[in-house]
Amino acid sequence: MSAARWLHPSRSLPARLSLFALAATMFASLTVTAISVHSIDSFLRDEIEQSFPELLRNASSQLDLWYKQRELDVGVFAKSGILTQNVPRLVTAGQASARAKAEVDQYLRYVLSSFPQFRAMFVVAESGEVLHWVGDDENLPEELLAEIVAGGEIIAPLRWSMGRRVGVLSVPLRGERDQTFGYLLALLRMDELDNVLTELNIADSWRAQIVDSSRRIVSSTHREETGRTLDRLPAEHSAGTSVSEYIDQDGIQVVGSHREFGRFDWTLELEVPYDEAFAPVVRSIGRIVAIDLAVVIALAVAAFRVVMSITRPIEALSEAAQHISEGGDSADLPADTRQDEVGILTRAFRSMTTSLAAKAEELEESRRQVEEANRALTDNNEKLRQANEVLEQLSITDGLTRLHNHRYFQDQLVKEVRRADRTGAPLALILGDIDYFKRWNDELGHASGDQILMLVADAMAGAVRDADLLARYGGEEFAILAPATEGESAIALAERLRMAIAETEFAVGTLEDGTRVSASFGVALFDGDPARLFAQADRALYAAKEGGRNCVVAASELPEV
Ligand code: GH3
Ligand code: MG
Ligand code: MG
Repeated sequence: MSAARWLHPSRSLPARLSLFALAATMFASLTVTAISVHSIDSFLRDEIEQSFPELLRNASSQLDLWYKQRELDVGVFAKSGILTQNVPRLVTAGQASARAKAEVDQYLRYVLSSFPQFRAMFVVAESGEVLHWVGDDENLPEELLAEIVAGGEIIAPLRWSMGRRVGVLSVPLRGERDQTFGYLLALLRMDELDNVLTELNIADSWRAQIVDSSRRIVSSTHREETGRTLDRLPAEHSAGTSVSEYIDQDGIQVVGSHREFGRFDWTLELEVPYDEAFAPVVRSIGRIVAIDLAVVIALAVAAFRVVMSITRPIEALSEAAQHISEGGDSADLPADTRQDEVGILTRAFRSMTTSLAAKAEELEESRRQVEEANRALTDNNEKLRQANEVLEQLSITDGLTRLHNHRYFQDQLVKEVRRADRTGAPLALILGDIDYFKRWNDELGHASGDQILMLVADAMAGAVRDADLLARYGGEEFAILAPATEGESAIALAERLRMAIAETEFAVGTLEDGTRVSASFGVALFDGDPARLFAQADRALYAAKEGGRNCVVAASELPEV
């Protein structure tokens, strides 16, 4: 199983490093974006902070100049001798003074034609009666006229008449002794006022306007606004700055500033839509974000490639390590010629796994050798055991007859006597001896004698029971130990042995006198004395020899000694 597959995707090295690179790039980009936007924003605000008051100052002084100029004009006209001489006559003589009227008319017409800034001029008596009117033949409404002339001084330069602006300048007409006998009034061409704002040369989307004390727009760079009454007060300025942001009369968010126009109760306002003012910021944000995005993507791709070039070999290493830890052999690792740490690590890992594999091979070889040696050892042990068994067998076997030997018989006799003693079971001992064996040797040779010994042994071996022990006791004498055997059975066993020999056909034939091979047997029963057991059997055997041989004699049949 791949080591990488054990990991949650978000915890793998490539994912974590790529995320980190992406986050770092994003963070850097966003920081730069934020700083840039903030800088542009600050820069624009500073620009507005500086340019607005400047513009307002200019406009204010322009207005002032314009109005002062007109005042001066009218003041000069009022001092004209034509007026100071003829107007008193008009006051006193009224319409009768045709000549005075003609002169005043001629003068005022001349002035009007020379000063296009005025649209009408007229002379008013102190009583408020209009003595003579020249220019726009639209007379002022009575009440407005009354208001203007009341008290003999012009109170306000501007009045509204049926939705129209009426700018009025009034100068007293004085006689030689400085007495006032009337007023010279001039109606201003208000378009001139609009021109003052137009000459500020502000952008179309900007708005400069003059608002009177009743919040009515006297003049605006947006002409159609003239005469409109605003339902808002001039925006409050935030502390430390003369420029602020607020919602204008059309519900648009604007950046604006205002200035009290000292001479009258007017306010000069300058506004620019917020979107317009900060359009460069919005455009910059768009551009910066696009560049940021491109940079982030490029860096993310680059970071991903770098990260993958580092983590792929590590992943291969960890998979190989995993493979080996699960008992696999040296895993396939890509050849790595890189000169960095990853390359060194990969090469070290390769040589480690190679030497590990070589060690494993050596170990396997050693194991095989040990196994081989163990097998040989086991074989030898088995041979040794078999040889020992053979030796053991040989040590208790008679070499000629293959019967148990004298030593073995003695050992077994001791054991059987002990058992009989312990259990009380009967135990019989039979001793057998080949008859006239010396003669067989003498007449037919020692080899024939050996032949007879072997055949006799075979015959007896075929006649004894499994539980009986048959041994060559020495020379041509045999001993049979019969456990759990009573007297009769022992005699019967001895008889069977004798018969087996007697019935055996011996190739050696007979002795010269026709004697066949035979054996005599003595039988004795164990009566608690081991020494007596053997002596009794021997005595019975001797008796059998004495009795003519080829017979069986039981010790129990003999008289007690
Ligand atoms: P008896 O009928 O009274 O037993 O007479 P016998 O000749 O058998 O008795 P004796 O004990 O005098 O003779 C035994 C002979 O058996 C003597 C010896 O040469 C011979 N003999 C003993 N062991 C061997 C043997 O291993 N091989 C041969 N061929 N002869 C043996
Ligand atoms: Mg003998
Ligand atoms: Mg004998």
